[in-house]
Amino acid sequence: MAERIKRVKELAGLTDEEVDVIYSMNGLKREVADRMIENVIGAIQIPLGIATNFVINGKEYAIPMAIEEPSVVAAASNAAKMARARGGFYAIATRPLMVAQIQTMGVADPFAAVQRVLAQRDEILHICNDTNPTLVKVGGGAVDVEARVLDSKRGQMLIVEVTADCRDAMGANTVNTMAETVAPLIESLTGGRVRLRILTNLATKRMARAWAIFDKESLGGEDVVEGILDAYAFAEADPYRCATHNKGIMNGISSVALATGNDTRAIEAGAHSYAARSGHYSSLTKYERNTNGDLVGSIELPIASGILGGATSTHPVAKAAIKILRVKSAQELACVMASAGLAQNLAALRALATEGISKGHMKLHARNLAVMAGAPPDLIAKVVEEIEKEPKVTFDKVVEIVKKLKGQ
Ligand code: NAD
Repeated sequence: MAERIKRVKELAGLTDEEVDVIYSMNGLKREVADRMIENVIGAIQIPLGIATNFVINGKEYAIPMAIEEPSVVAAASNAAKMARARGGFYAIATRPLMVAQIQTMGVADPFAAVQRVLAQRDEILHICNDTNPTLVKVGGGAVDVEARVLDSKRGQMLIVEVTADCRDAMGANTVNTMAETVAPLIESLTGGRVRLRILTNLATKRMARAWAIFDKESLGGEDVVEGILDAYAFAEADPYRCATHNKGIMNGISSVALATGNDTRAIEAGAHSYAARSGHYSSLTKYERNTNGDLVGSIELPIASGILGGATSTHPVAKAAIKILRVKSAQELACVMASAGLAQNLAALRALATEGISKGHMKLHARNLAVMAGAPPDLIAKVVEEIEKEPKVTFDKVVEIVKKLKGQ
């Protein structure tokens, strides 16, 4: 660990203080944690690893991932290495547009009310932008207003949607404040009663896309390419398989989100609702074979992530993680996350289509298993060594090994 943090320090130009907040494993001070949420009694630590080998749009990245699950960091690094042969990942992110919804009930003439709201577009945008001069100054702010009539179990309701460019923030608080502030005007324009004023996490105006070519030789040959295409087809056809397929993608994305203090639940809600948008839950990635016989993978999903605001600005380790990433905008971070998700998925599909996931996973999991089986600290390395000799690793086997070594 000491050697790794030294390398990362050089690479990212971290200060001694930044190194200390990461390496001390005590970066979150009690008083900061106590301000972040309520009824704080302490903090739970999650390992922070660095995924290597990533080239995205021609730029090298060391990607911090915070995750408790073994093999994710290794798998992403491995897939990124395979992608390098064909230039790495190519990624784009749209303008960082978030949408807040304003639910209006009891409107007598909802279709005419839609027109009255839209006619006041400029005034609505003006009120929204007045809530956040800083955002406007940095080139963001409310940019559009839409309105529609929605049929529901409780009758018709009028939904007004304000779109805002949130620049480098995730933007939840930002657009929620806009919606709350403009609500009285919506009530007076519609004659209705405003109830909910909240963003949607299905952020389809804030999309991230990435693709990469994985050459057939580094994947392990034509049959592996076929196996990955079969695995992808299985996910597209079956929601039971697809849930796990997309979970693997989110291993890559959520671990970067957590490392950078982003809202993992918001990004996951967006990803899964996007995957289900047609009514059939489907894959966030796509795979095809190009004329050369190589595998081309791509990913597309909404990613509302920020490089400031929320915990990204308060958690010192998250701030250091942003520095390690060397990302200059929320859009660039979304490109990194999409690439990490694609890498993770490719690695998982390749493992599943060939040797199966357990072999590599259990190998990396050996240390956890040794601890679970009651190995004292001085025996863990020895237990892992014995586990690695086993053709098939099961927990019972680990317990047996620990017992034997303890006896010795
Ligand atoms: P925030 O409230 O900290 O606001 C960030 C602010 O930074 C902006 O409003 C802006 O005034 C300022 N700023 C300065 N420079 C900027 C730049 N270059 N680009 C953009 N803004 C700049 O953060 P937020 O992103 O509005 O809200 C994120 C938080 O909201 C997260 O902690 C999230 O968990 C939480 N949240 C999420 C949901 C949800 O997802 N459903 C709901 C409520 C709250």
